[in-house]
Amino acid sequence: MAYLFAPADATTVPVEGSDDVFPVNRIFCIGKNYADHVREMGSDPASTPPCIFMKPADTLKVGDGDLSYPSATEDLHYEGELVVALAKGGKNLDRASVEEAIFGYACGLDMTRRDVQSGLKERRLPWDMAKSFDDCAAISAIRPKAECGTPADANLKLSVNGDVRQNDTTAKMIWPAIDALVHLSTLIELKAGDLLYTGTPEGVGAVARGDWMDVVIENVGSLSVTLK
Ligand code: MN
Repeated sequence: MAYLFAPADATTVPVEGSDDVFPVNRIFCIGKNYADHVREMGSDPASTPPCIFMKPADTLKVGDGDLSYPSATEDLHYEGELVVALAKGGKNLDRASVEEAIFGYACGLDMTRRDVQSGLKERRLPWDMAKSFDDCAAISAIRPKAECGTPADANLKLSVNGDVRQNDTTAKMIWPAIDALVHLSTLIELKAGDLLYTGTPEGVGAVARGDWMDVVIENVGSLSVTLK
């Protein structure tokens, strides 16, 4: 038996301070994980709990450089986020097992066709085409947890063309990363190579072709991309 055509290459992310690369399995994302962002999107955090959605692994843009502006939107938004990278998996994990499964952390961008998302929300339809498209997720090199610890109260800053737009602490997550992964492991079996985008603080907004975005997370790293 032979493959009908060559299978796609694995998406890999560099590991800071190492020649090893992290092979990506799946990309999970938390939506509505910071109360101030829920409010800026017009919802009440008291009645709007966080949610989980996914992006295909092959939509990931790795490292600094260009990010392609997608089709079918006139309102592309940035969302700066802390990303968790798992080197182990499992089902129904407790907090200690999640801690053990976490390999490291990275800076990420969850790019969003906001106009498409608004239309889908109005019609109570899934968000997929608002959140999943080529280059819809960007990620920096992964910093091993052994070096950075758990960034539970780390400053997250996103700038557009040098102007700070998001500036908050990861301590404001409604579902802290570890709790989110405990919960996620009750829904699916987590696997080595899974990434979790942990949601964005307030200050999201539109970007245009030619804009450059910087995401800096205290003690984790930085990511700098330009929209083409
Ligand atoms: Mn997001």
